[in-house]
Amino acid sequence: MSSLFPTYQRWELSAKSAKGCTLVDTNGKEYLDFVGGIAVCNLGHCHPNVVDALVKQAETLWHVSNLFQIEGQEKAASVLAEQSSGDYVFFCNSGTEANEAAIKLARKHTGKNHIISLANSFHGRTLGSMAATGQSKIHEGFGTMLPSFTYAKLNDIQSVQEQISSETAAIMIEVVQGEGGVRSIDQTFATQLKELCEEHELLLIVDEVQTGIGRTGKRFGYEHFHLSPDIITVAKGLGNGFPVGAMIGKEHLKAAFQPGSHGSTFGGNPLAMAVVNAVLETVFDESFLAQVEEKGKKFQGYLQEALQQSAAVKEIRSLGLITGIECHEPVAAFITKARELGLLVLPAGPNVIRILPPLVVTEEELQQAANILAQVVGHTTATVH
Ligand code: PMP
Repeated sequence: MSSLFPTYQRWELSAKSAKGCTLVDTNGKEYLDFVGGIAVCNLGHCHPNVVDALVKQAETLWHVSNLFQIEGQEKAASVLAEQSSGDYVFFCNSGTEANEAAIKLARKHTGKNHIISLANSFHGRTLGSMAATGQSKIHEGFGTMLPSFTYAKLNDIQSVQEQISSETAAIMIEVVQGEGGVRSIDQTFATQLKELCEEHELLLIVDEVQTGIGRTGKRFGYEHFHLSPDIITVAKGLGNGFPVGAMIGKEHLKAAFQPGSHGSTFGGNPLAMAVVNAVLETVFDESFLAQVEEKGKKFQGYLQEALQQSAAVKEIRSLGLITGIECHEPVAAFITKARELGLLVLPAGPNVIRILPPLVVTEEELQQAANILAQVVGHTTATVH
């Protein structure tokens, strides 16, 4: 009998150790970990640079984040500010918290409450970020949501426009809806959103928790769409598996947050910052990012080839190394079968298989995964070479 709240439907897999893209269970079975990318996406499991940085820091100083000058925090903030459209950074411990900080900053700066987010979006599980989430199944049973969110349709600018009022503070989007089925915004929508924000003086908040820090082959996913968000949130890949998040905001928002406005005991603590600096040094490198983009394209090709015969597959969508295979039927059984064959993948809604390999994945590993997926979804044994 477990003493844990049954909040998760866990797999019958007891993880023991992991290295690179491979995870090993307590029976010694090895899996290609193509869900690892959701949290340890950048450098794979137990990357020596990250381990070294963490161990060195663990031997030197662990403390709270908010009392002292912390060199690592200043350094990580300056890198994030330099490499993004933002100028100032607030560190926290998760994606949800980064979105809470974004919502609070947008409200405080504008003095307005209303935020338009998108149907089918996912922004987190705390009361604010849950209200921002455009999925009623996430809200169910938890009583009244923050009333100040409305949800527009993805890639439908008229639907956004109709919801704007004098009380609107911001528009909040993911450039690729991860939990929502690996669905991307399109360039027309992005351009029109930008124009709407300018016209109505609305803040643009981009949740890059799943797409940021190299996942799509760019530092941040919004770069693909030539956006310049006022607020960006990141987490997951920022810590390569270590719990950390960040909210990055433009210069004009700085004054809204003063000492006492917002805070976190551990957000930006020395251990987290040692990891973040090691991650950013490697990922924010042009040749590393170019490889991600290249591998993403190759993987898309392998999947097209491996799954072309499959009647189950409706569409394969990807941006860099975030990939969704939409099927005509529920994918739960495919995901279990893939695991039996040694490949870990996730669902994104009932009909989409979501694939997020670590960014250091090799071409051979991508081919191997495509071949396993062909066996699972394709009902064939086609082999990709
Ligand atoms: N935003 C997005 C886009 C996410 O995908 C997630 C997690 N799936 C979150 C926010 C919440 O992040 P966390 O679980 O770190 O709180």
